[in-house]
Amino acid sequence: MTFWEKKKMDEMTVEEWESLCDGCGRCCLVKMEDDETGKIYFTRLACQFLDLVSCRCEIYENRFRCEVSCLAVRDCLAHHPHWLPESCAYRCLHEGRKLPDWHPLRHGGSRERAMIASVGPWAVSVMDLDPLHLDPEAFLIRFSGQDGIEVWGYDDEEEEG
Ligand code: SF4
Ligand code: SF4
Repeated sequence: MTFWEKKKMDEMTVEEWESLCDGCGRCCLVKMEDDETGKIYFTRLACQFLDLVSCRCEIYENRFRCEVSCLAVRDCLAHHPHWLPESCAYRCLHEGRKLPDWHPLRHGGSRERAMIASVGPWAVSVMDLDPLHLDPEAFLIRFSGQDGIEVWGYDDEEEEG
């Protein structure tokens, strides 16, 4: 058995915990929440600190100090697990699901297959947009489960979350 199958999440070492992240960058996308239903809608707008080439945070060590909207994964899991995409390994394990077939841990650490989940090719950094005329609703997307394929457009019946 692998460590993620036999250990509880709070029993994992720091290294094991960090290795769960596939580096998709989806958690760093701007999200919108429906006031009435609490449903979460993802946009393809990325945090100003997300490097869209590597899909890594440019300020990882200082992220909570520099970006007020940045939330630790553990806090997210404890209070708002649906703020993470369904494909996220942390959310998968938290909900008792398996890691996606393309997860790097299933492929000797290679991120090659995990690239299908990466936001890099289609995200837009909020840094590149005019904040005064920014309409997040124009950037809404949804994901189709764990397979990493994103579907464009807003669909009231099949939204994420
Ligand atoms: S959504 Fe999950 S797997 Fe993807 S970058 Fe964020 S924490 Fe890592
Ligand atoms: S500060 Fe870094 S980790 Fe936090 S949302 Fe932005 S890019 Fe992601």
